[in-house]
Amino acid sequence: MIRVLLLCALFAIFYFVYQVTPSSDCPFCNRRVVHRQKYYEDDKAIGLYCYKPIIDGHCLIIPKRHVERFEDLTTSEMVHMQKLIKKTHKASQKAFGANSYLLLQKNGKEVGQSVPHVHFHYIPKKRGNPMDLLLRFLFAPLKAQISSKEMNKKIKSIQDSWEKEGWTSTVNRAVI
Ligand SMILES: [Zn+2]
Repeated sequence: MIRVLLLCALFAIFYFVYQVTPSSDCPFCNRRVVHRQKYYEDDKAIGLYCYKPIIDGHCLIIPKRHVERFEDLTTSEMVHMQKLIKKTHKASQKAFGANSYLLLQKNGKEVGQSVPHVHFHYIPKKRGNPMDLLLRFLFAPLKAQISSKEMNKKIKSIQDSWEKEGWTSTVNRAVI
């Protein structure tokens, strides 16, 4: 029990030290950033693959309208986010063998929100030791950005699963 508490404390320290970085630009409103990472897009939302995934299949679900916090979303946008999260999970189950998943959404820099544009982290987990995920969080700040090749491979895995479900997306990776 003490070990678990120590790990949690270490995680919290690392997370706040490394994640709270003020940003004047919004990467989620930057077309170049979005284009590199997106696996899904429609008129209201985008789905991005995380460039520093905590674990295989770590995605970000983001409304297109730039609002900072959850309470700034309209009811319609909230419903849209919910649908997109559910679809992302279904695609991730096929693409990455996900069983459980963690949804993480921060509001305000005091809780570690690094990008002031509301976004949901979808973090899938296969069956196995739950401590594995905690350790991945702990060492996440030290993780390097994945390569473009790796990013494209992950995006293709999600999109293949997406298409198998018969779902549509307006993603056009050839256009920026
Ligand atoms: Zn934004």
